[in-house]
Amino acid sequence: MSGNETKVESFEYKAEMKQLLNLIIHSLYTHPEIFLRELISNASDALNKVRYVQLTNDAIIDKDKELQIRITVDEKAKSFSIEDNGIGMTKEELIANIGTVASSGTLEFIKKMKEENKSAGDLIGQFGVGFYATFMVTDSVVIETRYADKDAQGYRWVSDGGGSYTIEAIEKAERGTKISFILKDERKEYAENHTVKEIINKYSNFADYPIYIGDEKINKVEALWKKSKSELVKEEVNEFYKFITNDFADPLDYLHLSIESAGADFKALLFIPSRAPEELLAMRHHHKSLQLYVNKVMIMDDCKDLVPEYLRFVRGVVDTADLPLNVSREMIQNSPVMGTIRTALTNKIIAWLQNMAQNDVVKYMLFYKDFSALLKTGVSTDFLNREKLIDLLRFETSATKPGDMVSLKEYADRTKETQKEIYYLAGDSRAAIESNPNFEYFRKHAIEVIYLIDPIDVFVVPSIHEYDKKSLKAIDKDDITLDAEDTKENKNDTALSQSLVAVFKNVLKDKVEDVRVSKRLVDSAVTLITGKGMDRHMEHMMKAMGRDTPASKRILEINLDHPIIQNLSKKHLANVPEETLNKYIVHLFETAQFADGDIPSKPAYVKRMIDIMQEATKQ
Ligand code: ADP
Repeated sequence: MSGNETKVESFEYKAEMKQLLNLIIHSLYTHPEIFLRELISNASDALNKVRYVQLTNDAIIDKDKELQIRITVDEKAKSFSIEDNGIGMTKEELIANIGTVASSGTLEFIKKMKEENKSAGDLIGQFGVGFYATFMVTDSVVIETRYADKDAQGYRWVSDGGGSYTIEAIEKAERGTKISFILKDERKEYAENHTVKEIINKYSNFADYPIYIGDEKINKVEALWKKSKSELVKEEVNEFYKFITNDFADPLDYLHLSIESAGADFKALLFIPSRAPEELLAMRHHHKSLQLYVNKVMIMDDCKDLVPEYLRFVRGVVDTADLPLNVSREMIQNSPVMGTIRTALTNKIIAWLQNMAQNDVVKYMLFYKDFSALLKTGVSTDFLNREKLIDLLRFETSATKPGDMVSLKEYADRTKETQKEIYYLAGDSRAAIESNPNFEYFRKHAIEVIYLIDPIDVFVVPSIHEYDKKSLKAIDKDDITLDAEDTKENKNDTALSQSLVAVFKNVLKDKVEDVRVSKRLVDSAVTLITGKGMDRHMEHMMKAMGRDTPASKRILEINLDHPIIQNLSKKHLANVPEETLNKYIVHLFETAQFADGDIPSKPAYVKRMIDIMQEATKQ
């Protein structure tokens, strides 16, 4: 390109990008200095990439140069620049990576910002809008970059954060990226040596590469996970976590591992974040799992094979000497060493959680609140650890205070010896479960019932089948064993009641699986339970997930002690017109459906209701 007249091309930002830039430029910041962390983190990533690529690719230039980050500031000129000799970017990458914001996190960012009216600096810290944080401290940015390949062309990208940017070809001999700008007047402190040093010490001490200002190396490059457990200082470990994850909050807990086993030796520094995965997923830096290092060289920054899916909430670093540095990622994934590490990590993480559950309930419940949905999927996918995972489950029950939770073990330990089953009931909330008619018998007899409130519980708990030699039973199903002496079966199960049941069956024949005299109702007249059909809540969940599941028929139970049923019985004896009786029966049935979350035909229901009220209010 040299010698030719340079061609400057202009590009428009996408609409979403413009909104984001506008917010960054026009908001107040409490932590504008995080721009530096974002730039160092990008430079670090670019160096990681080139370190890996140059192991196997001969066409990479500058192989013998020290991998480094260089910051140059000039107080008088208020100028700042950061340069790395990492992988660099092609023109296409410049457009794809810098010109657009790909992540869904950005939209979230914009929304949250508007909703919460928070200052952008805090939110940028949380969401990691990355490179664009630069516009907090400057009006105009220049990127000069060259991809690491020997034939690559250099490019200059310029933008003032308005609606557009330009790109032109330039001469650039060394690979890597240089980002430079003039600081806004009110941000000129970032052109001071000591300020920049201070910030780096705060945010970026763990960059894998030396950071130079002039000739002075200002960070300590150390692989924290290589230290022994006793050398680790909590504050430092927390900072490390924030550095590798871009999370702005401390982790909930960490675990240092140094494993020497037959299949593989490795060290690891693992973290549980303090916040929910959805929240983390909304952020661009947070979709990652564990980083894999081989002898302090990062091989993969999101190695999904290190732990099973249900443990993906764990963040951190795993470092082993037992994998070759220069083999393909596919080979690494298939190596037996990976298998060994994965098994060891899985066991250690589960033991970590068991330990937390036992010794620090408060912390465990914080973990549980945010991450149990993922953990629970392990019950049906990790057969080897199933029992341990079941013991890590926690539930509210009829015997706990709202919000408190117990394990199946605690439940089983305190049941009466005569109770041969473990009972549960699913519902949208504690209140919904407690107002379910099927719960009445259990309330009356103070039999503890586990509440399945988290939607995923409906998929997990029924699959457990048995715990501590007791069967797990849903109390809205027909196969539970209710204590015979307590039930009203014998007392009321006369020929008359049988004949009433027959009338119900006749009226509802297409609508129900069966009609029965209830043993479980105390206060309500009727209830619906599940017989052969699909579990109620499972059905609702499937519907919510867009699966077209036909509603299965259910069993209607009637409470012979209830005044309505007794009145109906009298009317039946007195031979009132069939229509009248039918109307009451259908209405009772539909009311039970209603209570259960299924709304029958509204006009018919309402009309019948009006009819019944009219009769009831007749003088
Ligand atoms: P993030 O780092 O979260 O992906 P950024 O907006 O900070 O978001 O950067 C966008 C992308 O631009 C990066 O993912 C990377 O591909 C590219 N990039 C940014 N800085 C550099 C750099 N110094 N060297 C090479 N590529 C870079």
